[in-house]
Amino acid sequence: MADPNPRQCLILFGPPGSGKGTQAKFLNQSLGWAHISTGDMLRAHLAAGDALGQEIAAVMQSGALVSDQTVNRMVEERIKEPDCEKGFILDGYPRTVSQAKLLSELLAAQRIPAVVIHLKVDYNVIISRIAGRRQCLTCGALYSVTSNAPTISEVCDYDGSKLIVREDDRPEVVERRLKAYEEQTEPVLAYFKQAGFTVEEIQGDDASPQVIARRIEKSIQEVSV
Ligand SMILES: [Zn+2]
Repeated sequence: MADPNPRQCLILFGPPGSGKGTQAKFLNQSLGWAHISTGDMLRAHLAAGDALGQEIAAVMQSGALVSDQTVNRMVEERIKEPDCEKGFILDGYPRTVSQAKLLSELLAAQRIPAVVIHLKVDYNVIISRIAGRRQCLTCGALYSVTSNAPTISEVCDYDGSKLIVREDDRPEVVERRLKAYEEQTEPVLAYFKQAGFTVEEIQGDDASPQVIARRIEKSIQEVSV
């Protein structure tokens, strides 16, 4: 007998600039599934200075990375919260095959069905999109030369300051980040496929964010039936 309201898990992958965060927000609204960003959670525990936060701070001070077990425990605690009743979206986790193994054990133990979504985007599109970003250092305003250009090229509308390209947005830095993403993610996706998970590739750069969110919802429904 199937649970009439089973909790489901969406594991969302996408390179920097793919709009993954935007998609997670859309899906949070349309499906009512909690959006779980492990990066945000780590920062929140650090800021709160709670037991886990102190443990994380100690590890980081020693120059080590937070262990897979710690991140996994944090996720395990998080999905007990009431906003995860219908489902939850994992964003930025798992990052390693070892984390993916721990997660699949956790999902199996709790009989939570999961689908893996990989947002595919053309890297040239990402590089040109990010290369068009400009920021004003005086007031912090953000512009895009393609979709949200200032009235006068390279000048802030609010205070007349000259706009800059942030270090992270320089094409060579973006290329490096995309390469790092690929090297990190490929083995994790391969693990999920081999472990029998449904891994859906969704085109993420040829339509509006709303249309792309609909594609993801559709593939979740197909898997759930
Ligand atoms: Zn400004």
